[in-house]
This record gives sequence, structure tokens and C-alpha cells, in this order.
Amino acid sequence: MAVVEKVEAEVGGRRRLRLSNPATLEPIGEIEVHDASDVRASIERARKVQPAWAELAFEERGRFLERAVRVIIERQDEIVDVIVSETGKPRMEALSAELISSCDALQFYAKRAKGLLRDRSIPLHLMRTKKLRLVCKPVGVVGIITPWNFPFALTINPTAQALMAGNAVVLKPSEVTPFSALLLDEIFAAVGLPEGVFTVVTGDGETGAALVDAGVDKISFTGSVRTGRRVAEACGRNLTPCTLELGGKDPMVVCADADLDRAARGAVFGAFSNSGQVCTSTERVYVVDEVAEAFTAKCVELTSELRQGSSGEFDVGAIIWPGQIDIIESHVRDAVEKGARVLTGGRRNPNERGYFWEPTVLVDVDHDMAIMRDETFGPVLPIMRVTDENEALRFANETGYGLNANVWTKDKHRGFELARSIESGSVVVNDCMITYGVTESPFGGVKQSGIGRVNGEMGLKGYCNVQSIVIDRMGAKSEPLWYPYSNDKLGRMKKMMRFLWGTSLGRFLS
Ligand code: NAD
Repeated sequence: MAVVEKVEAEVGGRRRLRLSNPATLEPIGEIEVHDASDVRASIERARKVQPAWAELAFEERGRFLERAVRVIIERQDEIVDVIVSETGKPRMEALSAELISSCDALQFYAKRAKGLLRDRSIPLHLMRTKKLRLVCKPVGVVGIITPWNFPFALTINPTAQALMAGNAVVLKPSEVTPFSALLLDEIFAAVGLPEGVFTVVTGDGETGAALVDAGVDKISFTGSVRTGRRVAEACGRNLTPCTLELGGKDPMVVCADADLDRAARGAVFGAFSNSGQVCTSTERVYVVDEVAEAFTAKCVELTSELRQGSSGEFDVGAIIWPGQIDIIESHVRDAVEKGARVLTGGRRNPNERGYFWEPTVLVDVDHDMAIMRDETFGPVLPIMRVTDENEALRFANETGYGLNANVWTKDKHRGFELARSIESGSVVVNDCMITYGVTESPFGGVKQSGIGRVNGEMGLKGYCNVQSIVIDRMGAKSEPLWYPYSNDKLGRMKKMMRFLWGTSLGRFLS
């Protein structure tokens, strides 16, 4: 598989990958492909240091993360340079979607993990002679595997949660964008994070598979459905818990009463930011007939104002690697062959040296076309007319994916009701994509878009084993259910059963 001009070279019996900037095709460096024994060594080191890390108070662990925030602020231009060089995205997107969200994640979990993971007493509805305490314990060593589309933010976000929960982390970044993760490793070293608590192993699928198989206590995977399925199979064999954050085909529903200016701006941003390479990109639009023409015209106008490029001020950047641009091209070609019309874009950008696809608006699309069914992961906005909101909902749910969605209407109550009817892990009303950035919000997919949740309290607890401790309060000599058994006892139990669930007073008390 070709990856951004990846050139493999055997040096001293080890595979190396030579990477280049997808926007300029200039070389940006090389990485070594770590093998199974390298991965095992990293995990062993992590196992040794993890108990001492978990012993630290939340405040002490949090201080390392807060110091990392300060380094990110100080070295922001340098970090942006690295992200831009390996992804070809605009500096604005590197800063807003990667650095700012990373600072927020680090600070959020550093400050709040203690409260969110504190021991809890749960009042018992029936066994009032007992006390229940829930204790969140770290799982141990977490293996994190990340994709290329947000190489800094998607590295930091799960890492911040896993570390604050008291785990050590071994992280395998995408082979296409390893330098952001290596920079984070350097930042953690600079703030004195104990060695082995966070380790980056570089490489491709071979290294990722080795990490999944090496006996970590949890795998946190973000990537495609295809790889996610393999990871889940391997985790299943080893009974390793995993969360899978996978792809999407996010629908946008535009109602007749939507603010069309805002909706069109939202559609253009949702489809083209990060060159459409966001798991929560708007990948297909359903707009009701009455406003379809006006909405589409606005989208085309806004799209034609976008500046694509690789230097200076620009809005839309590069596509990460040739394989991705091939998928985009094949989806657009398939749509056009089946009757879709290209209103703007629809081709590789001939003026750029690297991998660029022009922001594209398509109409006359339908669900026979791959562009409306499969994840395109590129700057394409296919717009489909529907008769009403019910038809929009039916199409929105006619998919194997279920990550995110967005709904546009001035009636917020109706927006909420429509959002509830969409089969996805999250929905945004009158905005788009922001769910991942709402740190409190659990994030994840339904159907093929994933298993489990990251972020917020739910995500943080996913990096813990929740232990339940039941404590007897009374210290009586015996318990009603203990030996000896007798017919007398059996009779009392029958009476208790009839009272508790067979009478209204009993039901009230229980
Ligand atoms: P990918 O699945 O090709 O690769 C993801 C990671 O898995 C990489 O680090 C890769 O080296 C590794 N890998 C490959 N084979 C492996 C194996 N057999 N075992 C273990 N690891 C292996 O995904 P990608 O192309 O890097 O990223 C794009 C995809 O990620 C899109 O589908 C996108 O929607 C999805 N994504 C999802 C989210 C989310 O939160 N749901 C966020 C970002 C991206």
C-alpha cells in the first residue's frame, strides 16, 4: 500500500519509512518500523512504572499535563509547523482543531479527573444493611492506535484521559503522520513525565497489530472500519477490552425553516474543513425541496470563494496520500456516471504539486451512488433534494454508519426531536462537527462507526476498571439467606417476595 510517498528501506535488517509533505511532496523525515519485540519491550517498561504513576495523587499527575499545556503554548509555532508538514492542512486548522483542543483536553482532565473518578457511595434500594462503594482503578497499560487526520489532537486526547486515570500508555501513531506524536513524546520528556509512562512506537499496521497482540490491558483504537474490525478480532481472541472510534458518513438535514445563510456556511465548513478528512465531516446533505435551490446556490457561491493551497493564507489544504485521493476520484466519477452534476470542483487541483482535490459540490445524487453510501473522506458536498423531513430522516438512517449528524431548523424543539430520530452516536443542531470538541460529551459511534465512547466522564471511566465494594454495616451474627435452610425460612421468604413486589406499599418501598 502506498502511503504519502512512503519509501521503504531495509537498514540493518529493520524496515524504515521515508515520508514526505503531502502538499509539497518535499521529504520530511524517516521513521523506523518497530517490531513485535520493540513493542513488547515498551510494554514491559510501561508495566514497571505504571504502579508508581497510579500511586501519585491526581493533582501530581495533573501537574505534568498542565506543564505540557504551557510548553504547547510556548512552542505553538513549531508544533503547527510539524502538523502542517505532515498533513498539508492550513495553519489555522492545525492551531484550532489540534493545539487548542489539545490544551483543552489536557487541562480539562488534569483539573477534573479527580472529581469524575472519585470513590462513590451508592444508596441501596433494597439491601439497606449493606453499603456500596464504587472505586475507579486504572486498567494498567493502555495501547493507543491513532489515524493521520488529527495527528496531534487524537494523540493527546485519549492519552490525557488514560494518564489521568493512572495508566501508562504505549501509543502507535499513523505511519503517515508520526512526527506529531514524537513531538508530544518530547514535550512530555521536557516536563519530566517519568520515563516509560508514555512511549511512542512507530511503524505501520505491523506495529499496530503487534501492539494489539502484546497483552496490553486495553486498546483505544481510532481509524477506519476495515482496520477496526481486525483490531476487534484480535482483541476478541485475547479478551482485551477495546474502544473503536471508526469512520462515518455523516448526514446533514436542512429543514424548510432553516436559516439558509448559516446552514450553507455550516455545510461548506462541515464538508471542506481539513479537506473533508474528518470522521465527523458532513458527507451528504438532504435538503427539503422548497429551499433546495436557494441553499444549493449559496453553497456553490461560498465554495467558489474558498482558497486552496500550500503556502500563505488559504482555506483548504491537501489530501493526505494518493490512496485517499483515488477514493475521492472514484466516488465522484461513479456519481457522475450515474447522473450526478458537478456544480463546482470535481477534479484534482492542477495548480498544486501535491495531492489536492478541489472543493466539490454535487447535485442530482442518490443512494445508488457510492458518494452517498461509503465514506469519501474528501472535500465533496453531495446535495440531495427530499420532499420533507421524514424522507430526509429515512435517507439519513439508510446507512451502515452512525457517527455524527447535523440538523438545521429555526425550531429548536423540532431540531431536538429530529436529532433523536437519527441513528448515530451524536447529533448537532444548527452547527456541525463540534461534538468531539465538546469535552464533556461522550463521543463514539453506533452501527459500524464504533464501539464504546471516549471523552467526558464516560470516556475517562473507560480507562478504568470500576470495582464494586459491598460492605456489611450491621455486623449481625448471621444473615437471613445463610445456613441453615428450613421450611420456616422458606415461608418467610415467600411472604417477603409477595409483599415487596406484589403489593403497592412493597413496590413503593423497593
Ligand atoms: P486506518 O484504519 O488505516 O489506520 C489507523 C491506525 O491503525 C494507523 O495507525 C495504522 O497504522 C493502524 N493499523 C493498520 N493496520 C493495523 C492492524 N492490523 N492492527 C492494528 N493497527 C493497525 O485509518 P486511517 O486511514 O489512518 O484514518 C482514517 C480513518 O479514521 C477514517 O475512516 C476516519 O473516519 C477514521 N477516524 C475516526 C475518528 C473517530 O473518532 N471516530 C477520528 C478520526 C478518524
